[in-house]
Amino acid sequence: MLKAIYPGSFDPVTYGHLDMIGRSAKMVDELIVGVLNNKAKSPLFSVKERVRMLEEVTKDLPNVKVLPFEGLLVDFARETGADMVIRGLRAITDFEYELQMAQTNHKLDPSVETVFLTTNLKYSYLSSTIVKEVAAFGGDISQFVPAYISECVEEKIKQKRRV
Ligand code: ADP
Repeated sequence: MLKAIYPGSFDPVTYGHLDMIGRSAKMVDELIVGVLNNKAKSPLFSVKERVRMLEEVTKDLPNVKVLPFEGLLVDFARETGADMVIRGLRAITDFEYELQMAQTNHKLDPSVETVFLTTNLKYSYLSSTIVKEVAAFGGDISQFVPAYISECVEEKIKQKRRV
């Protein structure tokens, strides 16, 4: 049985991530979407909210499971019994960091392989940061994220403005 982890921040999940999830899920028996609880970053959504949002938009994919994690990715891979890590390459700018991470993870645990998927051209410009920026200025994000996520982002921005 082939098990993979697709890790990320997913703050929030975009159509680019969903494209990766759909394609990765077809390649393996089980895909774990690992939602990173990175204490050094201050995300828009809590890790709990990001997990819930991902669960909602992947509910039709039976072999996809969403789990939070913190700490080293190789430890999470060991805990979940995953054989590989899947990452997306959007552009050449992603490459340097991704190569460094993949090589570091391989040093930490040689049994964990990283596999890269090139992104769908349709979404190669898309990032969670761009979505948050557009939404913060009142722009329409409906072409970047599913309707449910768009509602969550709008609601969260309203909430933040109130405090
Ligand atoms: P991180 O903060 O770890 O970069 P992200 O949630 O931004 O996490 O991204 C998780 C993974 O999804 C990364 O491998 C990233 O390259 C990939 N990814 C992000 N945006 C897109 C996109 N538009 N198309 C395809 N892959 C993407």
